[in-house]
Amino acid sequence: MLPAFEYVRAESIRDAVKHLGCEGARLHAGGTDLLGCARERIFPVKKVVSISRIKGLHGIRESADGGMRIGALTTITEVAEHPLVNQRYSALAQGASEVASPQLRHQGTIGGNLCQKPRCWYYRGEFRCLKKGGDLCFAFGGENQFHCIFGGDPCYIVHPSDTAPALMALGAMLRIVGPRGTRSMALEQFYVLPSQDVERETVLETEEILTEVILPPPRPGLRSSYRKVRARRSWDFALAGVALALVFDGDRVGSAGVVLSGAAPVPWRSKAVEEVITGVRPNREVIAEASEAAVRGATPLEKNEYKVPLFRGVMEEELRAACSM
Ligand SMILES: Cc1cc2nc3c(=O)[nH]c(=O)nc-3n(C[C@H](O)[C@H](O)[C@H](O)COP(=O)(O)OP(=O)(O)OC[C@H]3O[C@@H](n4cnc5c(N)ncnc54)[C@H](O)[C@@H]3O)c2cc1C
Repeated sequence: MLPAFEYVRAESIRDAVKHLGCEGARLHAGGTDLLGCARERIFPVKKVVSISRIKGLHGIRESADGGMRIGALTTITEVAEHPLVNQRYSALAQGASEVASPQLRHQGTIGGNLCQKPRCWYYRGEFRCLKKGGDLCFAFGGENQFHCIFGGDPCYIVHPSDTAPALMALGAMLRIVGPRGTRSMALEQFYVLPSQDVERETVLETEEILTEVILPPPRPGLRSSYRKVRARRSWDFALAGVALALVFDGDRVGSAGVVLSGAAPVPWRSKAVEEVITGVRPNREVIAEASEAAVRGATPLEKNEYKVPLFRGVMEEELRAACSM
């Protein structure tokens, strides 16, 4: 059952920031994750601050430099179906269309998708785990088949969003508004590893609002894609996923953004793969070497060793597809 809470509809960003400064206040966008967290008592919720009425947070528009600005309240369906997103940033369109179910994509927003809480069943269940102030990660010696293989210590969650890896590969920036004004940062700087702070997933403070996602203009020769592997064809989170943003200069890869999903507590940038494929003409040997590099240094748990060959295989297939092989 949901706890009793006060409900406020903020009329402006300033108004929302003020309400979010109250103890136990939580921002509500589409509510598809927040209300589940409140019901499961993952964190205390005393005041729910809806931002849905705030003008200027909805919609997708082209920016003057040829890039794109996506308001935080834009639904995931709108992102997935937008013609320019499909034409210029196919990784993002594919990532958005892989999120959850049609109902959740209609209700869920891009801002909420980037800020959602992880899905670890110990964290979401009645366990006082490390993330909830306890002193143990129950996944480490427990049911860890869906947990991470990189960046885990001391908590082994996986980051849940399908849009974040695509946006990170594409070099997206975020605009954030809080009590002390506005700040911008690369999406890559937004997420926090458990070794940095086990109780948070992002650098966002509770009074801060993610207002906009900003994509750079697509570079000539850009080919981008997002591939998600899941246990069933119905809605499910990624077991393994690969976002690619390769910029071709003739038949060479001039630059590369490669990000894994379902691998780590944050969208996991694979610099090892980027290094192997950048500056070369990719052939089967290069791609095999890059796929091996994707899993180098992985530290699987007792029940998720299957993820290592899975990531190697998905990487190989995706790179071959991107290089038309
Ligand atoms: C059954 C199910 C299956 C799912 N499967 C997938 C999946 O396969 N892939 C995937 O990517 N996701 C999946 N999701 C997650 C879903 O995509 C998210 O619930 C949704 O994107 C959250 O958007 P929302 O607008 O409803 O956010 P809300 O629920 O309103 O908010 C989520 C969190 O983000 C914070 N927040 C929201 N917007 C902002 C903002 N602008 N600024 C600061 N903080 C903010 C809220 O305070 C809250 O903590 C699934 C969810 C469910 C329930």
